[in-house]
Order: sequence, then C-alpha cells, then structure tokens
Amino acid sequence: MSITDTFVQATGIQARIDAVLAKTPTGLLIDGQWRDASDGGTFEVENPATGEIIATLASATRKDSQAAMDAAAEAQESWARTPARERSEILRRAFDLVHERSSDLALLMTLEMGKPLAEAAGEVRYGGEFLRWFAEEAVRDYGRYQDAPEGTLRMLVRHQPVGPCLLITPWNFPLAMATRKVAPAVAAGCTMVLKPARLTPLTSQYFAQIMLDAGLPAGVLNVVSSKSASDVSEPIMADPRLRKVSFTGSTPVGKQLMKLATDNVLRTSMELGGNGPLIVFEDADIDKAVSGAMAAKMRNMGEACTAANRLLVHASVVDEFIEKMAESMASLTIGNGVEDGVTVGPLVEARARDSMEAFVTDAVERGAQIVTGGKRVDGPGYFFEPTLLRDVPADARAVREEIFGPVAPVVTFTDEDEAVSIANSTEYGLASYVFTENLSRGLRIGDRLEFGLMGLNVGVISNAAAPFGGVKQSGLGREGGAEGLSEYTTTQYIGIENPWG
Ligand code: NAD
Repeated sequence: MSITDTFVQATGIQARIDAVLAKTPTGLLIDGQWRDASDGGTFEVENPATGEIIATLASATRKDSQAAMDAAAEAQESWARTPARERSEILRRAFDLVHERSSDLALLMTLEMGKPLAEAAGEVRYGGEFLRWFAEEAVRDYGRYQDAPEGTLRMLVRHQPVGPCLLITPWNFPLAMATRKVAPAVAAGCTMVLKPARLTPLTSQYFAQIMLDAGLPAGVLNVVSSKSASDVSEPIMADPRLRKVSFTGSTPVGKQLMKLATDNVLRTSMELGGNGPLIVFEDADIDKAVSGAMAAKMRNMGEACTAANRLLVHASVVDEFIEKMAESMASLTIGNGVEDGVTVGPLVEARARDSMEAFVTDAVERGAQIVTGGKRVDGPGYFFEPTLLRDVPADARAVREEIFGPVAPVVTFTDEDEAVSIANSTEYGLASYVFTENLSRGLRIGDRLEFGLMGLNVGVISNAAAPFGGVKQSGLGREGGAEGLSEYTTTQYIGIENPWG
C-alpha cells in the first residue's frame, strides 16, 4: 500500500473526491443543456499524482462545435440587449457561488492538474476575483458625447459587445484562465464557446454549471471539451459569425490561431508563453529576493507563464543567494497535492516530467552544476525534484526556452547593462522581476525591460484589477483591469446633425 493510499483511507478524502466528481457535469454544454457528443465519443481525465483515470467526458466533434457556435450566434442579439446591471448581477452571484463551492473547485483542480490543495484554494480566490471585478466593470463602460471641432456634427461614441467569441484555455490554471475570459465577455455582452484544455476540463465543466446556476441564459456560454483541439477550433474559426478568438497557451499554437484568424479578420487576444527573468542586484535584500524567487519559480510547480524562468544574480551576492535558495528548495515537500503539508505536486503529464530531465542534462553537459535536486521521483505520478542549477551558460536550453517546471537556472552578471541585456535577449516578453532596495534603479530597469509585467521586490503580481499580458511573442492584448473589458467591446461612432443647423 502506498503512502497515498494510507492517507486516503485515514482521512476519508476518497468520499469527498467521489462526491465532487459525481457533481461535475461530464457532457458538452450547448444552448443551456448538457449533452453527449454527436458520435457518442469520450475521453479520459487522469490524476497526474497517481496515474489513475478520474473521469470520462464527452468529446466534442466538429458537428458539436458547429452546434455550440450556432447557439452562441443565436443568443448574441438578446444577450447584447440585456441590461448591464443584469449581466453584472449574474457575475456577482457566480462570484458568491465560487466561494460557496470553493472546496469542490480546489479539490477538482488538485485532482486533474496536481497543484497542492492550498495553492488550488489560492487559485479559487484569484480566479473568483475576475467575476467580482468584471461585475463591477460591467456597469462602468462609459461612452461619450462631444461636438465636432468644426461645429458641423455632434458625435456619439459608444461601446458595443464584439460578438460571439471562441475562448481557448490552457491546463495550468484551470479556473483562473477560464474566469479571466468568461467574466469580461459576460460583462461586455458577448456570447461564447469555451474550449478547456484536454488535460484539465473538469474545473471548467463545474464552473460552467456555476454560471448556469447564477442565472446565465442558455446559449451565452457553451462548453465543448474535446480530445481534439482542432475539431473544435477549425469549424468555429471558419464560421463568419465568430467575431473574436481569445487564446491562452503556447506561442506556437497562438501563431497558428492568428493565421486562421486572418481569414475572417477576427479580433484576437493572445496570452502566450514566457521566459521571465528575475534579477537580483547587489543592493537587494537577499532574504526578500529568495522568498520572491521561490514564489515566482515554484508556484504551480513552476508551470506558470509568469514563472521566473531564469534567475539573474549579481556576482557579488550569488553565493549567498544560492545557499539560501537551495535551502528553501530542498525544504519543500513533494507529494500528492491532496495530502497535508505537500508543497510540490506532480508535473501535469509524463512528457512534462521527462522534459525537466532533458533541461537538466543539457545544462550539465554545457557546464552547469546541480546545487540541489536534479532527478525524477519514482512514480506513480509524474514528480520531479525542485532543482537549482548554477553557472548555467547562456546557450543552455534552460536559459533560452520556457522550462515550465521546478528547475531554476542561475546566471551571473556584473553590471546593470549586462543584466538588462541578458534579460531582454529572448523573443518572449511576459513577466519579469527585479530585486533592489534602490527604488530609482528599480524604476529605471522597468523602463528598459521589454516585458508586459514587472514585479519590483515581489514574486507574485497577478491581480484581477491589473492589466495582464505580454509584448513580443508573449502575446497581444490584456486580461484583467479596465483593459480586460475593452478586449470584448468595439467602438461605434454615430455622427448626428448639428441641432442648430
Ligand atoms: P497549448 O498551446 O498546448 O494549449 C493551450 C490550449 O490550446 C489547450 O486548450 C489546447 O487544447 C489548445 N490547442 C492546442 N492545439 C490547438 C490547435 N491547433 N487549435 C486550437 N487549440 C489548440 O498550451 P498548454 O500546454 O495548455 O499551456 C502551457 C502554455 O501556456 C505555456 O507556454 C504558458 O506560458 C502558456 N500560458 C500563458 C499564459 C498567459 O497568460 N500568457 C497563461 C497560462 C499559460
């Protein structure tokens, strides 16, 4: 009997797991009804901590995707006319329901994605905030009325919903990536088809039922989980009634979708990959930098687009930083995220775990040293030790590519120009972090970093009220903040004859 089995029996958590899985819809949500796939097809969801199959879901076909698009198009006009206050109150009720059902949502995320329960609970709070924030924004989307400079016209400028949207989400934050798109779309008056990631659809299925329970009318939100992403995206992207695609995921898939979007000149929001630098200057508070680096690197087992991919540390403080960082990493507890005290769950699938091994092998072959960790952990489940690497050369894959796991390469620099140059030497531009006790230097570095987001002396900056998004190949558009709503609206101008003639 494994430690996990003993734990499960001792705590009775299996009963809770069975109960939450029984409550989670397994069908496709089309026009307000949960239904089977048109060909009866299904796919399975695995728990990455145990390798067990935990659910079997309907797998949308091209025909189902078309039906979902039909439902979204049909519902668009009446939904756009629904008063903003009504849309806002649906979001507010959904926020309350997410909180009432937070332990179900957190458990589902741990089961399908692997993050420890405490982190999953944190995501419920963060993800839920988008519902509350956009409930508040829905009624504050102001237009304007002005005179033409020549006095010939009066000008009425107003915002309208973009129209039906395709929303595609990744597996790493199963709730927050869905609410970050669904909430502003609801607030703006758009209908939508949501395609969750194949590896983690259960949280979205459960969340969609919350939206129905909160009073969202049939057809506004349609959910088509599927084993085939292209069976969903291709028919919908080719449909002339679609007006927008909002995608969060890898840069290569984002580029493919952008190409498809050109045919119908779709609005696009792209939240793509990252290769975030975390820069520790010689005047940093090293304890603060270590705790920031731990948060930025180890949150979500490193499977975050905002992860500190590369730790750039000034040569004069690198030994102290590495010693403290190694101690913190080695003190983490690896295990099944449902167990008390576990701080590092599994990687999401075997391939992700294997890729950590490849990053470490490549770095070591190029001269890096392993300070702590460096190995896979025997299964079941796809675990990898939190790993700190030092003296990592610039050509190592771990420095050039998005790692998406618990491997932290340390690179040394000697002055500000060199730090900025290393940080910017990537095609990505999402999150960056700077640690210095000199505020002017922190702001100056902010001016020079080519990144959409920067944390100054802090390792976690995501917030529903902040505009989140990247530059360069990390994407287009912003989610959250006031900007998040404007991604789902279009501006109409009505020129009116001068009432004075
Ligand atoms: P992915 O690109 O493999 O998949 C993302 C989504 O796209 C999934 O739902 C997947 O099923 C779907 N998909 C895959 N191929 C598709 C296709 N041809 N057409 C349409 N849809 C398709 O990414 P992932 O592995 O799920 O997520 C990890 C990536 O997401 C990382 O690169 C990470 O940085 C990025 N990410 C970015 C942000 C951000 O806000 N910038 C947030 C989270 C994750």
